[in-house]
Amino acid sequence: MIQATTSLRRTLALGLVAGSVGVTACGVSTQQEIDMGRQYAAEINRQLPIVTDPQVHRYINELGNLIQRQEGNRDIPYTFYVVNSEEINAFAVPGGFVYINRGLIERTDNLSELAGVLAHEIGHVEARHSAEMMERMQAAQVGVGLASILLGGPPSGLAGAAVDVGATAYFARHSREAENEADAIAVRLLPSAGIDPAGLVTFFKELIEERERTPSTLEQWFSTHPLTEERIANVRNLIQALPPQQNLAITSQTYQTFKQRVRSLPAPPAQFRNRD
Ligand code: ZN
Repeated sequence: MIQATTSLRRTLALGLVAGSVGVTACGVSTQQEIDMGRQYAAEINRQLPIVTDPQVHRYINELGNLIQRQEGNRDIPYTFYVVNSEEINAFAVPGGFVYINRGLIERTDNLSELAGVLAHEIGHVEARHSAEMMERMQAAQVGVGLASILLGGPPSGLAGAAVDVGATAYFARHSREAENEADAIAVRLLPSAGIDPAGLVTFFKELIEERERTPSTLEQWFSTHPLTEERIANVRNLIQALPPQQNLAITSQTYQTFKQRVRSLPAPPAQFRNRD
């Protein structure tokens, strides 16, 4: 395992900045995106406590694929992973690998909220937000061995924070525009999957309230997914503009069973538990 140093991280960060200014997109093909995503995912899976419980893994993949497999979406395989970390966070790696922490799942109140978060992450992949970051990294010639560098930092404080922060720093630190775009995709996908999109609004509001109570559990989420009252208002407007549709699910028995199962998983490794 390569240990990341501060200067390496800084170099990468600078590379990213340089890469994003005046670089002609070299274009990462879908196949390249999937191949690189697979490598990153393999590295991430070695370093994060991925939940292997078959019921949990099956449900999150069924739900994620129900939301994603729709007319007009990208024809790439998606894989969803639950991470045994108490931190409230979720992120997507290029190529269709989506990670969601148990801490976030346990904080959702219903299917609509959980599906909203998944749909938002799917939105980042559909809009190629992280693939665009790869293009910028490639342009800045800092792509090689990136996964090791990203993930090699020694975990400190909460939650192997170095691990997550590394990955999310590159693949989930999105601009406000990207956040709005991912939200808009989520609002479009959820009703087509038969799920009420209102959970996006209620969950975002809960996160903002949670941040006021215990900021430490949400550091990563807010640093990687800019979330403001304005963004919530945008989502609400998008939902109001949808054609009226009946029988959208707010929750389901399978969601409840899944959440119970997640709650009963073994405790996360020490560095993936909340400090407070
Ligand atoms: Zn986001």
